[in-house]
Amino acid sequence: MKAKKVLEVAAIENGTVLDHLPSEKVLKIVEILALHQESRITLGMNLESKKQGKKGIIKIEGRDLTEEEMNKIAILAPEVTVNQIKNYGVIKKKKIVLREIEPNTLRCNNPNCITNAESVATKFHILDKKPLKMRCYFCERSIEKEEMIFL
Ligand SMILES: [Zn+2]
Repeated sequence: MKAKKVLEVAAIENGTVLDHLPSEKVLKIVEILALHQESRITLGMNLESKKQGKKGIIKIEGRDLTEEEMNKIAILAPEVTVNQIKNYGVIKKKKIVLREIEPNTLRCNNPNCITNAESVATKFHILDKKPLKMRCYFCERSIEKEEMIFL
């Protein structure tokens, strides 16, 4: 069981593997990071996981993720494990923790909000992490996880 897991994670030479993703978030993460446009990626969905039952994996060849990208992933999939791969081995394994919503990551879904009318960067306070709930700094509309639109 352990050997199989190592193989699944380390099958790229260099790059990043996102492990323990909810399967239904895999395509969404590819989309918001636009990974399909520039990186060689391998996706796995509904893979066996002892912890979660089923899980998703994204392998990104040839590059690391930026802080900004990691932050977006943390919004969608707070349980993710980020594996940094070098020469087919995991050199670093980390959990990412959502601390704040970076400006201009999400859209405010209040049509009357100043961020939708003028070129003002959106800003949200986190009210709750599980499940994720946040409030717009400008109009005070609260947004739940299901309503999020990434910019
Ligand atoms: Zn707003």
